[in-house]
Amino acid sequence: MIDFEYHAPTSLDQVFGLLDQFGDDARIMAGGTALVIQMKQRLSQPSHVIGLRRVGDLDAIESTPEGLRIGALCTQRQIEKSRLVGEELPLVADTFRKVATPRIRNMATIGGGLVNGDPNQDPPPALIALGASAVMTSKGGDRVVPLEDLFIDYYETDVQPGEILTSVLVPHAPAGSGSVYLKFLPRTADDYGTVTVAAVVSKEQDGTCKDVRIVLGSVGVTPIRAKQAEDALRGKPLTDENIRAAAALVKDAVDPLEDFRGSAEYKTDMAEVFARRAVEQAIAAIPVGS
Ligand SMILES: Cc1cc2nc3c(=O)[nH]c(=O)nc-3n(C[C@H](O)[C@H](O)[C@H](O)COP(=O)(O)OP(=O)(O)OC[C@H]3O[C@@H](n4cnc5c(N)ncnc54)[C@H](O)[C@@H]3O)c2cc1C
Repeated sequence: MIDFEYHAPTSLDQVFGLLDQFGDDARIMAGGTALVIQMKQRLSQPSHVIGLRRVGDLDAIESTPEGLRIGALCTQRQIEKSRLVGEELPLVADTFRKVATPRIRNMATIGGGLVNGDPNQDPPPALIALGASAVMTSKGGDRVVPLEDLFIDYYETDVQPGEILTSVLVPHAPAGSGSVYLKFLPRTADDYGTVTVAAVVSKEQDGTCKDVRIVLGSVGVTPIRAKQAEDALRGKPLTDENIRAAAALVKDAVDPLEDFRGSAEYKTDMAEVFARRAVEQAIAAIPVGS
């Protein structure tokens, strides 16, 4: 690993001062689970590393009238175990429980994972399906970015110079909706998904689809929202035939990279299969009487 100087600021003002001072020579470190590997592999070679651990107020989970505000420095384990998250956003708790191993989840943070922009990560599809946003903070104030727009390209996210991610806003799931996060793991239980899908579905009294969101991971350079499939289902009866027809459209939305988890063709086929299962399971999770 290259030599670097480690800074441990205790306030956001100090963080912004260091980012001003060192610019492109500096990298933020949260849990370090991604950054340290990238530094060892020399994919990232900062002369200055700015640790966030001693900055206060970045690891709280708060209930707001709109939903939950999750501090950027909350660990994946903290989110998985939070009573508030479990009660108000069970999809989020379930998704974080599916990340890697407790050893990783005890270190990795929600903010670090989102900024890292690895398209194989679990949390983005579920958070996008719920309509979550990232609060990006600089010395000029806050900028709220819908997570759907945060992911630009492979490991490239919309973080402007001088900014850090300070919290994630996750709205309540729509009333009477059901949701699920599926992670297709044909290799080992602690692997990244070969294909992942989050679905949130709500229905009208007459059983037609009121709204649906389908977001896939591991099948492109960013998380992918399958809008054509959603449009095909919204307003239609939630029959097997309509669900199958909508899931088939997912194949046009994805563009997987071939790797040791499978060929692009295999992942495309599995994307359709898992999108269908996700919609079916989200419908089954809609509370009785909704
Ligand atoms: C062995 C292993 C297995 C894994 N398996 C999975 C898995 O199954 N599923 C999954 O989803 N993920 C998995 N991961 C990835 C893991 O989730 C990420 O490494 C983690 O989320 C990154 O968070 P971190 O806090 O450690 O970020 P760091 O490593 O500290 O930072 C990552 C990047 O984000 C930047 N950054 C960090 N915080 C901020 C901030 N607040 N504002 C601005 N920039 C910031 C850093 O500069 C760096 O570029 C795995 C990782 C490992 C090492």
